Amino acid sequence: MKKTKRQIALERADILTKRIVDYLDIRKSIPKGLERSEKNTQRKREFLAILSATETDWNDWHWQLRNRIRDVNTLSKFIALSEANKAHIEAVSRIFRFAVSPYYLSLIEPDDFFDPIRLMALPSVCELDDKKMDLDPMKEEFTNPAGCITRRYPDRLIMNVTNECAMYCRHCQRRRNIGETDMARPRPELEESLEYIRNHSEIRDV
Ligand code: SF4
Repeated sequence: MKKTKRQIALERADILTKRIVDYLDIRKSIPKGLERSEKNTQRKREFLAILSATETDWNDWHWQLRNRIRDVNTLSKFIALSEANKAHIEAVSRIFRFAVSPYYLSLIEPDDFFDPIRLMALPSVCELDDKKMDLDPMKEEFTNPAGCITRRYPDRLIMNVTNECAMYCRHCQRRRNIGETDMARPRPELEESLEYIRNHSEIRDV
C-alpha cells in the first residue's frame, strides 16, 4: 500500500530524532554559555594582563582585530598546547591561514582539546586530510552575478567587501578568498554590486 504524505513525514521525523540520540542523552550535562560567565570574566582578566590591555581595549573591535592571535608561540601563552598540537597548527596554518581574536580565544576552555569553540577556531590536523582541496566547495563562482556579490537565495545576497575576518573559521567555505594579505574589494566592484542591488528590487536582505 502506498504510504501517505503524513506517514512519510513521520518516518522522516523519526529518522531525524534518531540521528541526534547521542546528543539528547547528554544534552542536560552540556554547560551553557551563561553558566560560564564568571569563568569568562576571569579568563578576560588573565588575557588583559598578558596583553597589558584595558577593559576599554577589550570592548573595542578595532583593538580586537589588531590583536588577533596568529602564531603558535603567542597562542601557547593563552591555552594548553602539546608539542604535537603546536606542530599540527604550524603545518596547517602554512596552507590555511589562522587568526583568532582575544575575545573569542578567551571563550575556549584552555585544557579541553575538544572544546567546540577551539575546534571551530584553531587549526586541526584533519584539515590536511582534505586531499581534494576544493577551494570553492559551494561553487560560488557560479553565483556571482555582479561585482563582489554572492547570490544563492531568491531575496537575499551577500557582498564580500573584504577578505579580512576577525577569526578564520576552520569550516570556512571561502578560503580561496582569504589569502595572506588583508584587503578591501576595489571600489569599482563595490559600485557594480550596489548597482546590481538597485536594479533587483526582490533583494530585501544584504
Ligand atoms: S568568511 Fe565567514 S566562515 Fe569564512 S572565515 Fe570569515 S567569518 Fe568565518
